[in-house]
Amino acid sequence: MIDARQSNDDNPTRLDVVYDHLNTSDDARERLAKAKLAFHVNIPVRMDDGSLRTFEGWRVQYDDTRGPTKGGIRFHPQVTAEEVTSLSFWMTIKCAVVDLPFGGAKGGVNVDPKSLSRLELERLSRGYIRAVYDVVGPDRDIPAPDVNTNATIMGWMADEYAQIERRQVPAVITGKPLGLGGSEGRVAATGRGALQVLNIWAKREGKSPEDLTVAVQGFGNAGYHFARLAHEAGYKIVAVSDSKGAIYSDEGLDPEPIWRHKHKTRKLKGMVYCDASVCEEAAFDTLTNDELLELDVDILVLAALENVITKDNASKLKAAAILEIANGPVNFEADETLEDKGIAVLPDVLVNSGGVIVSYLEWVQNRSGDYWPQDVVEKRLAERLDREAEACFQLAADKKVSFRTAAYIQGIGRIAEAMGQRGTASYFGEQDGRKSA
Ligand code: GLU
Repeated sequence: MIDARQSNDDNPTRLDVVYDHLNTSDDARERLAKAKLAFHVNIPVRMDDGSLRTFEGWRVQYDDTRGPTKGGIRFHPQVTAEEVTSLSFWMTIKCAVVDLPFGGAKGGVNVDPKSLSRLELERLSRGYIRAVYDVVGPDRDIPAPDVNTNATIMGWMADEYAQIERRQVPAVITGKPLGLGGSEGRVAATGRGALQVLNIWAKREGKSPEDLTVAVQGFGNAGYHFARLAHEAGYKIVAVSDSKGAIYSDEGLDPEPIWRHKHKTRKLKGMVYCDASVCEEAAFDTLTNDELLELDVDILVLAALENVITKDNASKLKAAAILEIANGPVNFEADETLEDKGIAVLPDVLVNSGGVIVSYLEWVQNRSGDYWPQDVVEKRLAERLDREAEACFQLAADKKVSFRTAAYIQGIGRIAEAMGQRGTASYFGEQDGRKSA
């Protein structure tokens, strides 16, 4: 179980440090301590064999001060109410860190999607939207893909919403297929944004991609596109892993053929070399996931799930820096150990924001009816990330705090400012004369 707010009476929490720096009214602290709305549903699904199964699901809208709430839906056997709540909190921070006009939300269904047929998966996806219909909407709460959900699933969900409404409402959900109102550039956006944040950090450190070795834990959509683009940019990818194991090469790996091979064979173990259309399989060294985490590399990329680095393994890490592409892969106790060891952590709420930035661009396109080519989408993503990542790194340098604390100061500072503009304790206290003394 994870707790995004990392409250613990004995420890200064991640957030206490942030509020101390912000010197803001207590209103933000009070309001951000709890989710605004937690919606719990049970979704009946007719299985292919005729039986009926019920799946437990959630949609949590954490805070909507800065706009309609935004965040993905994950299908995973370990999804719980607590996990979805933590993830919705991080979405709230993330949207504010990169200055999107959104609050934060998250959804999830407790299911192993790999055990379902395609038709069962479609019924579950449509059932989820029927169940949460009353709380989502283009001006209210806009879902998107997350772990184990993709464009096809978003297409089914958008279609289900349209059937209930009896009209097309593409802006209700992002990450849709292109033909159904999706945006160019959305699929690779999280990986592309993560690479850009890494590039900005490397430049500030006076390092170029060719100097840096990289290990990637997690080879799903975000991890793969990051690895592919980083390889193209000159970084040396020495290891990649998925839930079944890891492969390693001193010489560096080309992620693209590995991805194709993984999708053909469902295995990461082998590797294909392709020369024109001739592909040959070659064996690479294999590692366990734990061995990958402890590799002596410059950049350890965490692109799988939360809570991968804890106080139990943080002291064993040898990487110079960590790039958090997953949400919450380093827990707060590990943060302290990593800080003591001088390992820089580039935080999730900044690093993986490329996905929700392009989701925002998709939502804008859906609402305006004006659709942009890929280069326009990528330019807008790059401009926003440049501005917000630079500001965040500069804040860390000025205030002498970790990158995570700086990102939280940037995000929560904006949320607190918006809350303040509706009036705070001191404003109302002064007006009625009771609290001004
Ligand atoms: N699931 C992604 C995230 O955690 C994307 C959310 C979105 O696009 O709304 O950031």
